[in-house]
Amino acid sequence: MQKAKLTLKSSPDHKTIVQLSDRVSVGGQDLLIVGGPCSVESQNQMEIIANRLATAPVQALRGGVYKPRTSPYDFQGMGLEGLKILESVRDRYGMPVITEVMAISQIEEIAAHADVLQVGSRNMQNFDLLKALGEVEKPVLLKRGLAATLEEFVMAAEYIMSYGNANVILCERGIRSFDSYTRNVLDLGAVAALKQITHLPILVDPSHATGKRELVADLARAAVACGADGIMVECHPEPEKSISDARQTLSLEDMIHLVRSLEPIATAVGKSIPPGAGIVPRLSLV
Ligand code: PEP
Ligand code: MN
Repeated sequence: MQKAKLTLKSSPDHKTIVQLSDRVSVGGQDLLIVGGPCSVESQNQMEIIANRLATAPVQALRGGVYKPRTSPYDFQGMGLEGLKILESVRDRYGMPVITEVMAISQIEEIAAHADVLQVGSRNMQNFDLLKALGEVEKPVLLKRGLAATLEEFVMAAEYIMSYGNANVILCERGIRSFDSYTRNVLDLGAVAALKQITHLPILVDPSHATGKRELVADLARAAVACGADGIMVECHPEPEKSISDARQTLSLEDMIHLVRSLEPIATAVGKSIPPGAGIVPRLSLV
């Protein structure tokens, strides 16, 4: 990390707390739990998710509207229509929303509708995108590249910070390795190391790390135990019908169960799970 300046800890207690909204933050004592589908699919889907997760408690929602798909023939995301869905659900439930930005040309539109701009693994070293995100007012969730070293990961965060945006959240989402049993290999050693190296908050995404829903809860718990500031988990009202990443997506019931199981672990590592949005959902949904 020889050339890193802004991302490094100046003392063991140095930590940055990033505000996602007036009430939701990450990097302090509060654990941040983010839930939502891989892709935003409809207004109804997001309403059901927000309605169930607000009291889980899950503090923030995720959902891709511009999707980095391996095949150009697969669903590419709802685009602006999806952003408007995220925004309306955010406003109704008081839960900040996180969505991926794939290109500089999308930044203005996404920043106008979402609370946090996610840089996906495939773009972690898209340096022009990182520079442009340095000039944005909203927080950036930077996912670790598919095969990025910790130095490369930290230097990518350094790009965003050096262009003026101090609100960077790191996300470990597994790295490529030789074993294809899991989609990726979750590097929890990196989480512990990054907590020592940088002052930035770090989330763990056990969904993309494993690719298998039956492994997600165990790794989410391990992530909290080893000091992650929060988790981001894919979930859906009908997981097997998810348009993307169905195999790794939890049901809403399993997500709620997972959140409850995190409470004693959070307490053991000196963190707490804050209440959800605290807003009584105004819609009754079937
Ligand atoms: C995502 O979180 O929607 C995603 C595409 O993840 P990653 O960039 O980690 O593959
Ligand atoms: Mn996904």
